[in-house]
Amino acid sequence: MSDASKPNAGVVLGPDGKPCKPCTAFRNWNPTGAKKGVAKKAPTAAPPEDCPPDVEQMGRATWTFLHTTAAYYPEKPSPTHRANMLLLLKAIPLLYACTHCADDFGKDIAVNPPDVSSRTGLSRWLCERHNEVNTKLGKARFDCSLNSTDERWKDGPADGRCD
Ligand SMILES: Cc1cc2nc3c(=O)[nH]c(=O)nc-3n(C[C@H](O)[C@H](O)[C@H](O)COP(=O)(O)OP(=O)(O)OC[C@H]3O[C@@H](n4cnc5c(N)ncnc54)[C@H](O)[C@@H]3O)c2cc1C
Repeated sequence: MSDASKPNAGVVLGPDGKPCKPCTAFRNWNPTGAKKGVAKKAPTAAPPEDCPPDVEQMGRATWTFLHTTAAYYPEKPSPTHRANMLLLLKAIPLLYACTHCADDFGKDIAVNPPDVSSRTGLSRWLCERHNEVNTKLGKARFDCSLNSTDERWKDGPADGRCD
């Protein structure tokens, strides 16, 4: 932060009232790099690889983990699979470091409980939850058919460029 007593515009505060790095986009954190006289390459740059994640980097990593896990979840899950997937999803509102993201996700899944009954059901449910966040952020919604989620997270496109 350039001045601890006055956060930059766009910096999101955590529950402790302090600036929350994983709740904030890096471009808003310290656009001038004023604290240590470090010039940033561009105000919109993502954090360097060896820096703590911002809200966007952590979001991409988390969605990648969750969608890929859903894509490989069994079509006929055992009771143990179901129980552990439920635990994983219900832990996010408690543990996710972007606290306002966690709160909103908790409210969403309270109204739309996780479908852990099958790979198909879970992939669609997760896609719809991600779409809720996309809509909140003004981003395009994703096609939640199994063909689309499998193409993105499991099989890759038909042109073979990911093979
Ligand atoms: C639980 C959770 C809650 C979040 N809440 C907030 C929040 O409140 N405020 C905030 O600023 N950020 C939030 N984020 C982060 C936000 O969702 C994005 O991850 C971040 O803004 C980076 O967006 P992106 O455009 O790079 O792509 P992302 O939204 O991260 O998506 C990554 C890739 O997933 C694919 N994709 C997109 N939509 C879908 C979908 N519906 N189903 C399947 N695949 C899809 C696309 O190929 C996309 O490139 C949250 C993240 C998570 C995991």
